[in-house]
This record gives sequence, structure tokens and C-alpha cells, in this order.
Amino acid sequence: MSQAVVDEKNFQPEFAIFDGFADEYGPEKVVYVYEPRCGLKGIVVVDNSSIGPSIGGIRMTPTVSTEEVFRLARAMTWKNALAGIPHGGGKSAIIADPRKISIEQKEILVRQFARAIEGLSQYIPGPDMGTDETCMAWVRDEIRRSVGLSTVLGGIPLDQVGATGYGLAVCGEVIQEFSDVDLEGARVSMQGFGNVGQHAARYLVERGAILTVATDIDGTIHNEDGIDVEELVKCMRAGKGVKGYANATQKERDDFIDIACDIFVPAAQPDVITEENAERIKCQVVLQGANIPCTAGAEQILHDRGILNVPDFVANAGGVICGSVEYHGGSKHQAFMEIAEKMRENTRAVLKKSTSDQTLPRDAALTLARERVKEAMSYRRSN
Ligand code: NAD
Repeated sequence: MSQAVVDEKNFQPEFAIFDGFADEYGPEKVVYVYEPRCGLKGIVVVDNSSIGPSIGGIRMTPTVSTEEVFRLARAMTWKNALAGIPHGGGKSAIIADPRKISIEQKEILVRQFARAIEGLSQYIPGPDMGTDETCMAWVRDEIRRSVGLSTVLGGIPLDQVGATGYGLAVCGEVIQEFSDVDLEGARVSMQGFGNVGQHAARYLVERGAILTVATDIDGTIHNEDGIDVEELVKCMRAGKGVKGYANATQKERDDFIDIACDIFVPAAQPDVITEENAERIKCQVVLQGANIPCTAGAEQILHDRGILNVPDFVANAGGVICGSVEYHGGSKHQAFMEIAEKMRENTRAVLKKSTSDQTLPRDAALTLARERVKEAMSYRRSN
């Protein structure tokens, strides 16, 4: 068996990291998993479980660091609290490149990782970048707990049904009340055309929007008359990537940033919009599909430019709401009802507060989420 691809520098249990990040909310626990025999290196961060056992995805990527997992886990604390589900925030990562290992190697890594975290009952794994419902089935087979399972295992396959993408489209409905954007005819630029991007595009187009730009790891395509979402999904399934789509102009991957649109949806990597490129984005609204796609400085720049920027833990909560419904035995229908109801309420509450307090939407959302977590923490035994 060949070794998983690992970036060694990202697997340093540097306790000093937490001096900079730990605060009254968390993390509660950080666990490093190291199994040299199969090349497994993993990190779990349970950030805060006051509201309930933490739910958060297992990310598989060669470049993840402890700090990134911590930031993602914290984002889950706020997201889950704001979403109104009975779960705290956590996240984990397996340091490997899913594009460079075989499915057999992947299964070994995921199963070993699951067994290693069996006793960590305050963490319920879900899918994330590089993992999917098959991975969650392996986890469930090993330790009996995971979300994002296939129907046959009693789950609601959130990536298949597109729960996160659906939530983004609901969020898109609400932004019409707070901006000049009308979904009917709105041009959408989708950066990242994986699980989140494909479904978000599909559900936004169902509401009248037009997909004009799509980007994946290998390139960007652009067509002002609209990209056919189903045709593009077929290209992705065939492994051709967005560049396999015929009826659009081919561009370099990062060229998406200079193409004007109405709604920009980052749905790929963290830190895509930074202080260096935030001035270049030409859109009215950003719906953050990915987790932490904007640096703090970039969010301020977008706000100052009058761009409505709906933060990750508000805009992409559809998946975790679905995961929670699944974990508590609900159906797909119940999950979609709950996503629609909660996403509408929460997006409205956040944007109203942001308008009345004249703060960034992220700050308004954080204030609301912190209030909820603080109240839950007040019910915990203090000794
Ligand atoms: P995915 O692996 O299915 O898709 C990622 C997409 O991004 C792919 O099309 C890939 O080619 C593209 N990509 C990767 N690097 C890129 C780059 N540098 N430039 C342009 N495109 C790039 O992942 P996903 O499940 O769709 O998740 C995407 C993001 O959404 C992640 O940040 C994830 O944490 C977040 N998220 C996912 C869910 C979910 O339900 N899957 C829920 C909430 C948040």
C-alpha cells in the first residue's frame, strides 16, 4: 500500500496555537490521531458542546492545519447555535489528498480515523470536502454515529439531496428584501462546482437566476446567456470538470474574480476573498457557500463597498440542519421544511440586526449566536 500524501508541517501539535485562539467558548477538546502503519494523520476539534453534542464535517485534504480545523469548528459552534439545532460545534480533518489515493486507501484511512475517535462522544462526524456519504457509512459501520448517510441506512444524503445548496437558494430569496437583487434574471457566479456549488446553482436557477460563471479547481467558464446547470453537472460527473462544458468561454481558474455578476457564491476553499482582491469583485451580494471563504479584512472592504455579504454560518447552514433532522430520525421532507423555515428566519434576523445596528452581517450573526451559546453555557455545571 502506498502512503497517503501528507504535508508534514501541518501536523504539528503546537499547543501554543491555542494560546492565541482559545477563549471562554472553546475549544473544549483537541485530539490528534496518528497511525503510522496506514499513514493516518487526523485532527479533531470539539469547540463547544453546551447546546448538545457537536456536529461537524470530516475534511480530507493535504493542506489542512490545526488552526484551520479550529476556525472551522468555531464556525460550526456559531452556525449550529444560529441554526437553532440542538448541537454544538466541532470539526475534524484527515490529512490526505483524496485525488491522489485509491478508494481502498481512503476507506482504510476513514475507518481507522473513526475507530480512533470512537470514545469522543461529543463529536458526531458529517461529510465535508473530500468525504461523502460512503465515508459516513464507513464511519457509522465502525462507531454507530455519523450524519449525511444514504437512504438505505436511514439517512438523508445531504450531498445528494443538496441540502446546503437548497439553503443557499432560500437565503437568496431573503436577500431580495435587503438588496436591489431580484432572483429573476440575477447573474450568479459559482466558485467551486462540487456538492454545494452544483445544488446551489440548480436551486437558484429554479428561482429564476442565471448561472453565468462556474469555476472549479482547473478553470473558469463564462457565458452571459447562461450555463446549462444540468449539462455542466453531467460534465462534472464525467470527470471533465467545468472546462469540459462546450458552450462557454474558457478562462483561467482565478479569472472569476473580475467577471461581473449579481450574486457571487464562493463554494470551494477558505480565504478566497482577501484584502488583495476584495476591491475587484463586481457583484451586489455574496452568499458564502464555503466555510470561511472571506478574510475579516475582505468582509470589511465588501461592506464598505455596499456589497451585501451573507456569512458562511448563516448562508450554508442547510447541510447541518439536514444532518440534525437526520440524526433525530426525521425525513427528507421534514429536513427541507426545517431548512426553509430556519434559514428564512435566521437570515432575516441577521440582516435586520445588521441594518439596525449598522454592523457587518457577520457581527450581527455572531452577536445572536453568542447570546444563544452563552445562555446554554449558563446551564452547565460549573465544577
Ligand atoms: P466538493 O469537494 O464537493 O467541491 C469543491 C469544489 O471546489 C470542486 O468543484 C473543486 O474543483 C473546487 N475547488 C477546489 N479548490 C478550488 C480552487 N482553488 N479554485 C476553484 N475551485 C476550487 O466540496 P463541497 O462539499 O461542495 O464543499 C465546498 C465548500 O462548502 C467547503 O468549504 C465546505 O466546507 C463547505 N460546506 C459544504 C457543505 C456540504 O454540505 N457539502 C456544507 C457546508 C459548507
